[in-house]
Amino acid sequence: PFDTLIIGGGPAGVSAAIYAARKGIRTGLVAERLGGQVQETLGIENFISIKYTEGPTVAANLEEHLREYQIDVIKAQRCRRLEKKDLIEIELENGSVLRSKAVILATGARWRNICVPGEAEFKTKGVAYCPHCDGPIFKGKRVAVIGGGNSGIEAAIDLAGITEHVTVLEFMPELKADLVLQQRLDSLPNVTVLKNVQTKEITGTDRVDGLTYIDRATGEEHHIDLAGVFILIGLVPNTDWLDGAVERNRFGEILVDSRGATNVPGVFAAGDCTNSHYKQIIIAMGSGASAALAAFDHLIRN
Ligand code: FAD
Repeated sequence: PFDTLIIGGGPAGVSAAIYAARKGIRTGLVAERLGGQVQETLGIENFISIKYTEGPTVAANLEEHLREYQIDVIKAQRCRRLEKKDLIEIELENGSVLRSKAVILATGARWRNICVPGEAEFKTKGVAYCPHCDGPIFKGKRVAVIGGGNSGIEAAIDLAGITEHVTVLEFMPELKADLVLQQRLDSLPNVTVLKNVQTKEITGTDRVDGLTYIDRATGEEHHIDLAGVFILIGLVPNTDWLDGAVERNRFGEILVDSRGATNVPGVFAAGDCTNSHYKQIIIAMGSGASAALAAFDHLIRN
């Protein structure tokens, strides 16, 4: 069996694997796709100490760093079941079962897509999901935020300080964000809030140039000119397969303590699949390191 088995090969999983391997314990890593969300990212400007890099470069560096250590890397495999017995069992979709004394879950998350024409076409060409990452690209321009929940309104407040103007589009007649956030938003001069509207299409030629929406009360169609559209309608953790195996919150995020421990002894979690409040590369890497050290601590005590 493994001493530590990591599920996921994004920033959190790779960081956890390297920290574990450096303790000289038998370490394995299973990943459907090495690099994780980073593979889909173009410019990265907040990976501290590197002013600018790109997703595919970071993904390649992650793999190169992983290969420096004695880690059994099992690529292109999905896990479908976790069961705590004497050891912790992980079953892959191909039916094989891996056993480990400790497991670190780092299966990440994916942005919920709005699935309107233009979204897929203009990804990284004006369609964005992360204000912390891509906000500065739209400095001095007009943007929209789709989604009136906490993440949407936080994004709108953040973007209002960088861009010329922000239009918020909420499908329901009311915003769902916390009142303090709504009040802060209302105090900003360069924000327009549209409620009870449905985004119909993100328009453009080679880049986003606007958005068409339907006023749900009247059925009328409107178009606004924009340089960017931020879609913030939820981040979905890749944890469906853990139903009943570890404790999760109502969003499906794995509940962890400050060291990354879950409710199951020997099972730890890190990165975007957990209830960590902020989802960023350096945060995922830090939590992966913590979880690996906590897993090692667990091993030497049990
Ligand atoms: P992920 O990167 O999601 O990795 C999850 C891993 O688990 C993958 O290897 C996946 O294949 C694997 N996996 C999932 N399910 C299973 C399963 N059942 N079995 C086996 N393997 C599985 N952050 C920044 O800090 N700066 C940025 O500029 C930035 N830009 C971004 C741009 C985009 C378009 C996106 C989508 C995200 C961006 N982020 C950025 C966020 C950042 O990418 C994430 O916070 C980070 O990748 C999370 O790391 P993670 O390891 O927790 O998860």
